[in-house]
Amino acid sequence: MLKALDRKSSKKLEITLRFNEVPPLGVYIHFPFCKRKCHYCDFYSITNLQEIPNYINFLLLEIHRRSQSIAEQFSVNNSAINSIFIGGGTPSLINPQNIEKILSSINKYFVISSDAEITLECNPAASDAKFFAEYATLGINRISIGVQSFIDDELRFLQRLHSAAEARTTIETAQKYFNNISIDLIFGLPGQTFADLQKSLSQAIAFELPHISYYALIYEQGTPLHNDLLSGKVLPISDEESADFYLQISNTLRSCGYEHYEISNFARLGFRCRHNIKYWTCSDTLAFGASAVGMLDGFRYKNVPDVSKYFTLLNEGNLPDEFCEKLTFDERLTESIFLSLRSLGLNFQDFHEQFGIDLSTILNKEIEILVASNLAEFENKTLKLTPKGYYICDEITLRLLKIIEKANVQNIR
Ligand code: SF4
Repeated sequence: MLKALDRKSSKKLEITLRFNEVPPLGVYIHFPFCKRKCHYCDFYSITNLQEIPNYINFLLLEIHRRSQSIAEQFSVNNSAINSIFIGGGTPSLINPQNIEKILSSINKYFVISSDAEITLECNPAASDAKFFAEYATLGINRISIGVQSFIDDELRFLQRLHSAAEARTTIETAQKYFNNISIDLIFGLPGQTFADLQKSLSQAIAFELPHISYYALIYEQGTPLHNDLLSGKVLPISDEESADFYLQISNTLRSCGYEHYEISNFARLGFRCRHNIKYWTCSDTLAFGASAVGMLDGFRYKNVPDVSKYFTLLNEGNLPDEFCEKLTFDERLTESIFLSLRSLGLNFQDFHEQFGIDLSTILNKEIEILVASNLAEFENKTLKLTPKGYYICDEITLRLLKIIEKANVQNIR
């Protein structure tokens, strides 16, 4: 892996791999280009593909400049990077030469661990079998494919540029080069029936993929789909239908050997997405590229969500930050509860070590209610939501936060 990278750069930060002392880092790269905008999507991306060569140059400049800034301000130079996620946008538009430049640049200023999980997001309308083979030789070892549905009518509704057949071909091609493959699917489209849902589910299962992400269709404010909702052009499915679909997905995938390890994510043993777990456990993740959000040593930064401004700031010798702020105690606490409940569970011992608060006495009664309602399980000092609980995760989180607040715990909002 990563044979093509220069692993002996003299400019590398002073690295000592002491994994027991310093947790490994994650890296997120945002590639904000798409052939066309899908009308439900609120991720930052533009369709002017002519800017891609410029963007790659500025991205490399940011990696260099941020590495210097990090070396001056933070003590992460003992950490190795064990996950890289190239997301978008449509990163499968990046040619292998540029992927090599990006990975080499990260490896030049930091250290990519030899067992790093390196994911590239791929769109069936912008994927190339030849690229897959080259990506694999460059060290990409996980592909996440935006399938969304195996039904052509649904793909048309979502304004995807690919057909179900193209999605199937992309998966089959990816399977020739990668063991670790994930697909994204969307449920809850207007008019979707149980039979429709079952069709996409069965097709996904038939590929025997190690990882599946299944998202509810969200009418994100500011998207054309949201405008269609407001004007009555589309009619969303009911909450009851949505909950039934969600539980059907969870029950089916769990009965096929998948672990439901986060609200929208299912994995076979050993194939949880390492990179996303870093987000859900509030671990340090460096981020590069327009609109990317990073977290480092209690600070969160976000890059400007605008390619032109991104170019200008870097050109003027600056970092492309929209903001960089230290999280308060309350923010860290709220985030820790919210993110742990939506994924692997809230461990009371870890929480006590981190925040000095004993949740077992404060949440005693609520835990009994959640467990009795089949909304959560409580084992090994960890409160973990069931699929039924995941479906109302926000509601449960707010309830728990209110109880903690009422308990007059010092410093809590
Ligand atoms: S291809 Fe993906 S990132 Fe691009 S507009 Fe569609 S959903 Fe959004």
